[in-house]
Amino acid sequence: MDLVTINTPHLSIEGQSRAGHETWFRVRELNAAFDIGRCPDQLIGTSDIFVTHAHLDHAVGIPFYAGQRQLHRMTGGRVYVPADAAEGMREIMTLYERITGATFDEVEVIGLAAGDVVRLGKTHEVRVHRATHRVAANAYEVIELRHRLRDEFAGCDEHEIMELRRNGVSVTEEWRRSMLFYTGDTDRGILETNDELYQSEVLMIECSFITTGHEERAAKYRHIHFDDIAEFAGRFENETIVLTHFSRRYSHAVIHDEIRRRCPAVLRDRIRLALPERYQRL
Ligand SMILES: [Zn+2]
Ligand SMILES: [Zn+2]
Repeated sequence: MDLVTINTPHLSIEGQSRAGHETWFRVRELNAAFDIGRCPDQLIGTSDIFVTHAHLDHAVGIPFYAGQRQLHRMTGGRVYVPADAAEGMREIMTLYERITGATFDEVEVIGLAAGDVVRLGKTHEVRVHRATHRVAANAYEVIELRHRLRDEFAGCDEHEIMELRRNGVSVTEEWRRSMLFYTGDTDRGILETNDELYQSEVLMIECSFITTGHEERAAKYRHIHFDDIAEFAGRFENETIVLTHFSRRYSHAVIHDEIRRRCPAVLRDRIRLALPERYQRL
């Protein structure tokens, strides 16, 4: 399978993603990953892993991750899963502990539901959204948090600011920016019900099916067909839209050419395909 590297103005993303095979992405600036796939070596040192749902191509690497971190004596790994899958995943870990005699107590499995917020370091938080798929599924949104000087103090110099602070004046305000929205597996329901995904700087959205004749298959297995994305073309305000999770029945060239042919002009320059470099841009 081909490793994918995509650099946006604020994010360095690496990973790989084909439907039914394996999906994971690591974002270097966040030291976090979205989905774990079969747990490649690149993810073992990553301390926060946001798994979208329990399907094997997204989640089967969780016990291996725990085992590898235990082996290398790494502390503090956190694997986030949909709340409805958390208990089952903990049972799987307990079973592995029992049949292998290992302990996985350094890795915590944490259930999250829509509306939950997880702090990621000092400057980011991850918000949980609901994705619409065959099993309980989360989408994740990364928000950057900064404190910046309030507009009314923009003209003040350093000493004046210090003086204001000393007098108890609150000179800064919180500033938030949605940097990344990662859908995981979902059908077009998320396009119909979620407004935030259209606003985030980078959108990573699944697009399992692309050709004519596969529309029903997309609906039946609750995946997105490229025509669903095209239908909502006017709503995307994202700077970059990364399409992921293509069905393995399509070759790189078919994916590239077919999406290029179907893509509304308003999206063409912003779309990146989660494929090797030479097929990434339309
Ligand atoms: Zn999948
Ligand atoms: Zn799935």
